[in-house]
Amino acid sequence: MKIIDKLNQKGIHISFEVFPPKTDAGFDKVLSATDEIAKLNPSYISVTYGAGGGTSKNTAKIASHIKDDLGVMSLAHLTCASSTKEEVGEVIENLKAHGIENILALRGDIPEGMTFPDGDRFHYAYELVQEIKKHGDFCIGAACYPEGHVEQEHKEDDIRYLKQKVDSGVDFLTTQMFFDNDIHYNFLYRIREAGITVPVLPGIMPITSAAQMKRSQELSGTVFPRRFLAILDRFGSSPEAMKQAGIAYATDQIIDLLANGVNNIHIYSMNKPEIAIAIMNNLSEITKC
Ligand code: FAD
Repeated sequence: MKIIDKLNQKGIHISFEVFPPKTDAGFDKVLSATDEIAKLNPSYISVTYGAGGGTSKNTAKIASHIKDDLGVMSLAHLTCASSTKEEVGEVIENLKAHGIENILALRGDIPEGMTFPDGDRFHYAYELVQEIKKHGDFCIGAACYPEGHVEQEHKEDDIRYLKQKVDSGVDFLTTQMFFDNDIHYNFLYRIREAGITVPVLPGIMPITSAAQMKRSQELSGTVFPRRFLAILDRFGSSPEAMKQAGIAYATDQIIDLLANGVNNIHIYSMNKPEIAIAIMNNLSEITKC
């Protein structure tokens, strides 16, 4: 089944994300975390892709396990900047051979020292979207950035290129993490005005430690609101208190989004079933509405 068909159904849809192990040794641990998350009956589970290729072979394996053994829809991420066009084509064919129908098409980070244009590689995600469409009838998702992509100086350009990407054949978008819902509402308003009409899933990252916050900030350049910083200041030194506060903060963000008419939510569950379970427990009555 295709994710877009599910998202078009009435009701609240909550999905989760897992990432493959860095080495084969961690494979079973990731599988058992995924199995726990699948018990929450999510709309789908997405599996990230190691941009450098290191963990990429496990993406298809885990996405197949989710679909075939757990009976949950899966979304396989795929990046293109660090692979040749031929390699990208092989990965798409491999996903097809595994019966995977849903792909999140990403550029990935540009490897150091690589310059574009390079005839042998895709430079932007929209080119990958076009390539995926040549290989079959996939449901294609893509990334978007409510605070703007870190490489893009002007937000209008980011939205213009996002429109180009969506027009290339994207069925739905998932956002980069954000911690102030007003930024998301503002973004939604601007992209709808620009003519982007596909479903947009806000990506919610439960931050449960100071170290994780620092990593997230480095990765995405996101702004942490004063309210979040106060939580970190007060509870950051107590791991259990910070975990509880981070779960509450993510829950609060989700409740606000649902209350404001957003029906699709993607949670960056980061191979931590206990956090996914705690959030879903907090939402147990809300998701029935
Ligand atoms: P693009 O859409 O290609 O955009 C990249 C930049 O190029 C932007 O600044 C954009 O404005 C600009 N641009 C786009 N088109 C044009 C054009 N025609 N001309 C000029 N400029 C243009 N990374 C991984 O390695 N593995 C993952 O599994 C992964 N999953 C992710 C999931 C989500 C939901 C998100 C939000 C990000 C994820 N990333 C992942 C990170 C992502 O790969 C990086 O953010 C990357 O830098 C950009 O990827 P993109 O697909 O958004 O690129």
